Amino acid sequence: MTNIALVAGGGIAGTVAAIALQRAGWQPRLLESRPDGVADERGAFLTVAVNGLAALRALDLDPARVLAAGFATPTLAMVNGAGRRLALLPLGGPAADGTVTTTIRRADLYSALRAVAAERGIPIEYDRRLTGYREHAGGVTAAFDDGSTVEGDLLVGADGLRSRVREVLNPGGPAPTYLGLLNAGGFTDHPIEAEFDRTPGLVHMAFGRRAFFGWATAPGGAVWWFANPPSKRPVRPGDYTPESWRAHLIDLFADEGLPAAAIIRATDEAIGPWNTDDLSRVPVWHSDRVVLAGDAAHAVAPSSGQGASMAIEDAVVLGRCLAERPGDLPGALGEYERIRRPRVEKVVAVGRRNGSGKTAGPVGAAIRDAMLPFFLRMAYRRGNPQSWILDHRV
Ligand SMILES: Cc1cc2nc3c(=O)[nH]c(=O)nc-3n(C[C@H](O)[C@H](O)[C@H](O)COP(=O)(O)OP(=O)(O)OC[C@H]3O[C@@H](n4cnc5c(N)ncnc54)[C@H](O)[C@@H]3O)c2cc1C
Repeated sequence: MTNIALVAGGGIAGTVAAIALQRAGWQPRLLESRPDGVADERGAFLTVAVNGLAALRALDLDPARVLAAGFATPTLAMVNGAGRRLALLPLGGPAADGTVTTTIRRADLYSALRAVAAERGIPIEYDRRLTGYREHAGGVTAAFDDGSTVEGDLLVGADGLRSRVREVLNPGGPAPTYLGLLNAGGFTDHPIEAEFDRTPGLVHMAFGRRAFFGWATAPGGAVWWFANPPSKRPVRPGDYTPESWRAHLIDLFADEGLPAAAIIRATDEAIGPWNTDDLSRVPVWHSDRVVLAGDAAHAVAPSSGQGASMAIEDAVVLGRCLAERPGDLPGALGEYERIRRPRVEKVVAVGRRNGSGKTAGPVGAAIRDAMLPFFLRMAYRRGNPQSWILDHRV
């Protein structure tokens, strides 16, 4: 009889894990808390790096198809508050198969992955919020907020940053850490009253005086942007209305040599605010029948650009470990943790460091602008210092 894998969370880790588990001979059942068609817009868009794209290939998923709604973003331009380019850095690729780091709306990535799962006959159940689970000799019973329960042989907690599976597996903590930065994002194809670099696919990241700003121009001409205003305390529901949030962002970038204020003015809706969190070390990743994957196990800061790729890599490795140790579930889950933990914890540390440099006082900014090109030249002298992340193959 085929073993049943319950996968809590139909985001990136969960959907790819379900596909990987099916290849490993399991019968996955995806259980997603949100209603069908309602994607989590946190992040609005994200960048999937070449290492994440390569991991998709390991499941016979064609990155060009899964990320068809996105566009290639192989290069990053660092810019100072006066609009002056400080450095040009590689973001990843082309890999041997021609793929390059790609930027896509979160909702489009979720739908493409779910479409593949559905094509492969994996059932996806929506409106299924897991509230707890119980392990017993014969399997695991997952409980849902509608009072129902579901039986399986394995439970994969792919339920994101605020994972309920993680809470049950790790009573008393850890909790996500707020990193002192808020997030905003948006898209515009309206006319923008500013002169700026619109090279398609070139990601710009700019150190504004009061907030960090990033933008990229899609091949059709639309500008995709994000902003990271610093804030000592995390934002709470009701702190801003859509209008006051947009006005706040425009104000933050007023009188800058950047196109930020003009881009936001040309945007109908400034998405956000939401907090930037990460999660450093989760003591317990698995028990005999329950395992964490993706943000549930190790949320990396958005600035690393690796959260989605780490989630995909986790899912692929989990499937492999299960395939290689049939009949030894605890052994397979232990092997998965042994392979994945050191890598993701190193990436979390890098993400945290990157985020901490996003704002600086006027003196710090002057020093940074003067020194950054030199330090980057030194760092890239012997090749890309990020290659241990980007060139990794699961
Ligand atoms: C502002 C921002 C920008 C980012 N930018 C990037 C980027 O450029 N590049 C990058 O690689 N990463 C980026 N990330 C990180 C990336 O989004 C995450 O690392 C990635 O989404 C992790 O995938 P996941 O499947 O683990 O979690 P998620 O994508 O969050 O999916 C979790 C799923 O579980 C569901 N769920 C939650 N609770 C339950 C429950 N109790 N029961 C059932 N289902 C549940 C949720 O609805 C969701 O569908 C960014 C994140 C943020 C916040």
